[in-house]
Amino acid sequence: MTDQVSHVILYIEDNPQNLRLVRKMLSNAQINMLSAMDGLEGLKMAQREKPNLILLDINLPVMDGIEVAGHLKNDESLAHIPVIALTANAMYGDRERYLEAGCDDYLAKPISRRELLNMLAKYLTPLG
Ligand code: MN
Repeated sequence: MTDQVSHVILYIEDNPQNLRLVRKMLSNAQINMLSAMDGLEGLKMAQREKPNLILLDINLPVMDGIEVAGHLKNDESLAHIPVIALTANAMYGDRERYLEAGCDDYLAKPISRRELLNMLAKYLTPLG
């Protein structure tokens, strides 16, 4: 692969501050970050853009992240896309609930840049 590789990720998140933070964390990575601020908009954007990876907040308006993950994994054109749940309400059993819903992995907020990049490197190869 060349250094022209650019991954497209979709971050579905209703908190503009988190969107800004993650966008900033990714600013030096070769990543084009799309965003959507509710679950349904995010699902539609995923269908339209076919991103390489999806970061998914769980508490979302219109359609929550659990439902979004279910729709993504039931759509054969989208099921291969890694979905990383990214949420603050990490109570006991939540991680299992997200994985059961179809998420491939999970990051607890507040996330660090290193954690985020490590997670992306695990699912996006190679990350320039
Ligand atoms: Mn939220």
